[in-house]
Amino acid sequence: MNNDIRAELGLRPVINVSGTMTSLGASIVGPEAVSAVNRILTQFVEMGDLHRLASRTIAELTGAEAGFVTASFSAAISLAVAAAITGEDLLAIEQLPDTGGRRNEVLIQTGHMVSYGAPVEQAIRLAGGAVVPVGQATSAHAYQLAGAISERTVAAVFVVSHHVVDYGQIPLKTFAEICHRRGVKVIVDAASEYDLKRFLADGADVVLYSGHKFLGGPTSGICAGEKSFIRNIYLQNRGIGRGMKVGKEGIAGVIAALEAWKVRDHDGIRARERAALELWRNTLEGQKGITPIIVPDPTENPLDRLQVHVDPEQARITAWDLASALARGDRPVIVRDHEAEHGYFYLDPCNLHPGEESVVAARLVEEVERASRANQIIHTPLAERWLAQEAAILNWPD
Ligand SMILES: *Cc1c(COP(=O)(O)O)cnc(C)c1O
Repeated sequence: MNNDIRAELGLRPVINVSGTMTSLGASIVGPEAVSAVNRILTQFVEMGDLHRLASRTIAELTGAEAGFVTASFSAAISLAVAAAITGEDLLAIEQLPDTGGRRNEVLIQTGHMVSYGAPVEQAIRLAGGAVVPVGQATSAHAYQLAGAISERTVAAVFVVSHHVVDYGQIPLKTFAEICHRRGVKVIVDAASEYDLKRFLADGADVVLYSGHKFLGGPTSGICAGEKSFIRNIYLQNRGIGRGMKVGKEGIAGVIAALEAWKVRDHDGIRARERAALELWRNTLEGQKGITPIIVPDPTENPLDRLQVHVDPEQARITAWDLASALARGDRPVIVRDHEAEHGYFYLDPCNLHPGEESVVAARLVEEVERASRANQIIHTPLAERWLAQEAAILNWPD
């Protein structure tokens, strides 16, 4: 690609078929947002007014009364919890994370206590929230939620994600009804969801999105919800929100990304993604020990992925070793491998620059054929792989 800054910086030219991963730079920021970021960086603005504009745009797209932009999704969850705890009390806002005698218990289903790179419950605690798990990992019941609500309960967090346990959980509508009956605010994590209206319709008081995932904006968190609640989130910039604030470029970029979302050619994008999936499937079909299947997104985003099953006996390599092999070399291809221990990984088509789908296809053939010639089955014990990954983190910055 022309003008690729990565070569200049000595960074590997990774191709992202893993999804909108924050750890890989999230998504391809669209041209409208890039231009808005560029144009505002050199200008002075009154930040309250810029936030007002963002609020209007977010409200228009989500159907909420108001909206707010912060540094990341994770920041949004801390600030939403903070707002539930402090309300509009400016002194309480300055005193966080010390909550004094205020209500600060925050309910979350145990099956929703996941890590998105950091634990969701830590984002709650950061704001002074006391986390109260509801139910067990694979089963949560309405009576458990109702029984967990006390005079100390201030909010409840509901996570929508492929990371959460996908059965035995309380659906959002029921969850919100039980909470609202007792005056408990419902905060929904929809970081990686396309649907900008459904969760508010299902009862969220505030719904949170990552601006830098499907929306294709700069790194940011977007909050949408009831006006006074959003105002109370905004006020946190006078407290713990200061360190989580977004700059003018982030706000202008989010506004532009949302405007672009309104007119985005979703069908055209879907068709291009489909073509990439079919290319990869056709490329892999007939390779010994490899079974490619197109599967829908687990949280109902309008997105399919290619699930690539790897039979180590036939393919001479495990799914996770194949994922690692693809990530090496001059054209590293980063696949979606969080379930590789089940013997498959995914190829996600939603972050490709034109032409990259062919590079991915060529790399698949290259690595699958290399493995097929191996004398021994390539099989790194999983425990060893995980320990090596942990050790590698501690090596930074070397
Ligand atoms: C990506 C993601 C997050 C984290 O978002 P950041 O903007 O990277 O902080 C949280 N929850 C879910 C469900 C996610 O997909």
